[in-house]
Amino acid sequence: MGASAGAGAGLSARDLLAGWSPGGRGGAHARIGALLARAAPDAAARAALGGESLGARNQRLVRLHRALFARPLEARLDCACGQEVEATLPEAAILAAPTPGPGAEVAIDIAGRALRFRIPRMADLALGADPARLAAACCLAPPAPPLSPDAAAALGAAFEAADPAGDIRLSGACPECGAPLSAAADPAALLAAELDRLHAALLGQVDCIARAYGWSEAQILALPAARRRSYIALIQAREAVGRGSRAWA
Ligand SMILES: [Zn+2]
Repeated sequence: MGASAGAGAGLSARDLLAGWSPGGRGGAHARIGALLARAAPDAAARAALGGESLGARNQRLVRLHRALFARPLEARLDCACGQEVEATLPEAAILAAPTPGPGAEVAIDIAGRALRFRIPRMADLALGADPARLAAACCLAPPAPPLSPDAAAALGAAFEAADPAGDIRLSGACPECGAPLSAAADPAALLAAELDRLHAALLGQVDCIARAYGWSEAQILALPAARRRSYIALIQAREAVGRGSRAWA
């Protein structure tokens, strides 16, 4: 990996090293949410993060990944025949999808009553994905009645229709056996795995440069990513020469 992160979408290498907990507790959304909140410029921006719908968050994560890594997000589809197929997320479609405005709502029929719900926000989703809990949090005329499995499915479908970028599906065909493949893709999980690798790469860069020059972590992280790579290339070239001369001694 190029460890290209210098700054990306308002997230600096320093934010990443200080704010990302590799393999940390909590799901990918919670870990990324904590990182975004830490990097938010002010309280209003932090509050806005909690008010985002899942689709708006997915769009933010697609843009963030693009800014950090300069390539599209990729997911892996597993075929029953054992073949693994790489699939690129349809980023243009995700970014073009409409997102629900702050007052957006959906209505579903439960036992002859039309019940209205606002679209779930990230702050709601932080409570867990349990449909009953989500329905209770989003019902505009609480308390929400108990949802039958059919009503819960109808509510989930209404939420997805109102916030299409919140439900990303990949499809394709297995190149080995031709079977059709389809799976849900979660940009948060995919990005979290890449941030784990980037965090490790940044630590390695700081370690390498600090040992060679004695600079502080803050000084090293303030360097543009390309300059960090240049210094590391110089250090490695010098070490290679050192190894060569020792071999001749
Ligand atoms: Zn297959």
